[in-house]
Amino acid sequence: MAFRCKNMQGCPMYNLITTSLRIMQLQPYLMEYCANPDHCRECARFKIIETGKEPPADLLPDGKKLPA
Ligand code: SF4
Repeated sequence: MAFRCKNMQGCPMYNLITTSLRIMQLQPYLMEYCANPDHCRECARFKIIETGKEPPADLLPDGKKLPA
């Protein structure tokens, strides 16, 4: 993977996307946001981090909540 979002290290959602049993469910977010230089900044988590705040742990890159 060439491009890496600058927030990957320590991002709870990225960790879920890459290590969780939900990997099949969440993998599309990795390709759509975390590893996509053209779309990374559209991530809902990215936008909150840019304001200096910490996004909720269950906030998905598309702005939806991770289903329980
Ligand atoms: S794109 Fe979003 S979900 Fe992915 S590592 Fe960056 S802030 Fe986290």
